[in-house]
Amino acid sequence: MKRFDIIVGDITRSAAEAVVKGANASLLGGSGVDGAIHRAAGRSLLEECRTLGGCETGKAKLTKGYDLPAKYVIHTPGPIWQGGGLGEPALLASCYRSCLSLAAANNIESVDFPSISTGIYGYPLPQAATVALRAMMDWLAEHELPRRVRMVCHTEATAAIYRQTWNLWYAEEKADRI
Ligand code: ADP
Repeated sequence: MKRFDIIVGDITRSAAEAVVKGANASLLGGSGVDGAIHRAAGRSLLEECRTLGGCETGKAKLTKGYDLPAKYVIHTPGPIWQGGGLGEPALLASCYRSCLSLAAANNIESVDFPSISTGIYGYPLPQAATVALRAMMDWLAEHELPRRVRMVCHTEATAAIYRQTWNLWYAEEKADRI
């Protein structure tokens, strides 16, 4: 079974054991994937988030999934793109690593990620895909858990960028490369 995949879908419907939610530092909801997960999970998620005391950019916190098919939500505030010179790549990589580390520490077998920071937070998609894939592939090379990780892109166009980037850096066969 493939340990890593890039798919198109709605992460609120994901059946992975944990879904990752890009967030703002308050963890109390916002637009995009954040708002969609809060709506689908119900009020109880917001109530648990109120007890967490927020989260720093690049770190991650775990809650239950409530009305979601996923058992857990991993909340991670991504960096706001400000031109790339303010540590955005390191912070974005840290988001992915923090989520994977939290999942492993809780024996979570499967994790689905959205494309963190590439919506309202304005991180350019090709750069974000490079950082995200590198952080995930490096983690998987060194750890047994989580066993399965997927990048769940909301649109085919986003998935195409992730696939192209993956092919460029990780395709084993030269022929698979773009
Ligand atoms: P950020 O504030 O981290 O930029 P956004 O939610 O605005 O977060 O966007 C992050 C990415 O999540 C975007 O690529 C957006 O298309 C995607 N997205 C939005 N809703 C969903 C969803 N239901 N499932 C998966 N991805 C989603």
